[in-house]
Amino acid sequence: MTVGPSAAAPTLPPRPGGAWTPLTGAAHRIAVAVLLDGPLPRSELARRFDLSPGSLTRLSRPLLDSGLLVETTGAYDPTSGRPTRPLDVDESSHHFIGVKLTATTAHAVLTTLRARVVAAEEALLLDTSPAGVAATVADLVRSLASEVAEVGVDGVRAVGVSLGGRVGERGEVRSARYLGWSDVPLGELLEDLLGLPVVVDNDMLSLTRAEQWFGAARRCDHFAVLTIGEGVGYGLVVHDEVVDPPDAGVGLLGHFPLDPTGPLCPQGHAGCADSLLTISAVTARASTGLRRPVRYEEVLDLALEGDPVARRVVDDAARGLGRLVAAVGNLTMPQKVVLSGDGIRLAEVGRAALLAQVAADRNPLASPLDIDVQQTGFREWARGAAVTAIRTFVLGTRA
Ligand SMILES: [Zn+2]
Repeated sequence: MTVGPSAAAPTLPPRPGGAWTPLTGAAHRIAVAVLLDGPLPRSELARRFDLSPGSLTRLSRPLLDSGLLVETTGAYDPTSGRPTRPLDVDESSHHFIGVKLTATTAHAVLTTLRARVVAAEEALLLDTSPAGVAATVADLVRSLASEVAEVGVDGVRAVGVSLGGRVGERGEVRSARYLGWSDVPLGELLEDLLGLPVVVDNDMLSLTRAEQWFGAARRCDHFAVLTIGEGVGYGLVVHDEVVDPPDAGVGLLGHFPLDPTGPLCPQGHAGCADSLLTISAVTARASTGLRRPVRYEEVLDLALEGDPVARRVVDDAARGLGRLVAAVGNLTMPQKVVLSGDGIRLAEVGRAALLAQVAADRNPLASPLDIDVQQTGFREWARGAAVTAIRTFVLGTRA
């Protein structure tokens, strides 16, 4: 992972209450290691960072004095049998709010420093103008913070907001088509309203950052995340770094070709990922086949019950997803592919078709792909936004 602040990345203004950003070098690495993997014995930290016991004591002292790290008790060194005092964080010492924006709703969660969700709320976006959305989000943040009495707005260190679209380095939304926005200084608008540090991120990148630090891929330094829902999302971590290109938010994998005989997407591609895998694509095909309008979950339930039309639609889509998973596996050679997104139940209901397609598209000599299916709702997306805020607080950069 990156532990040093990067010159180009956005930073949060310093804030009273023990920000981590002033930490540098080994002290910073110790703090991050304990945050992600704690409690950690001192011997493990000394080994990991090649420090003498004396250096470790000197570096960790200010972290303990500030309350950032705490000593735990009750552990014993397995070799010497002597009691040890592993280092940990008091995760409730800092709270964060994550907000995921969809076209109609703001979903928000309040989390601890380790991204454990302690409260959740949502609000309809009745006015999708930038000022309208900022006002709704600000109300939501205040309401959520005051819901947990011991936190309050003063206990929130930073707010993360994520949305599908391109986001600039200063928290400006360069484009978010579903809100009709271009060049909206959302971060600035919200900071003015809330008086809190606000960091804005692409939703797929924030979900990937959450998987890397606190999710299914936390032990991997090279993995991919694929999501299906309203669109097809893709995130990639290489050498423990989230790949964060200017085109993140365009939906680069949405038009990836999967089936030349498939339906057309609005851009005119036959059988691209968007035309086969999105919730609206699956429901449209099932509704045509069943000759009545059906909801997504109903299509999946009907397939499970053995309805032949729903089963065919689900298996076709699952095969398409299998082809995409195999392509990602073949091209980026990850240790793991995490499947997620609000439509990902398709991977469970269509599991056999998905796995058969992955196998068909892989070299038989290749190792089996490690595919991890996560159930993801809007709360998980909002938690991802909170993780962007946590990372910015801890690292001084959202990267
Ligand atoms: Zn397309």
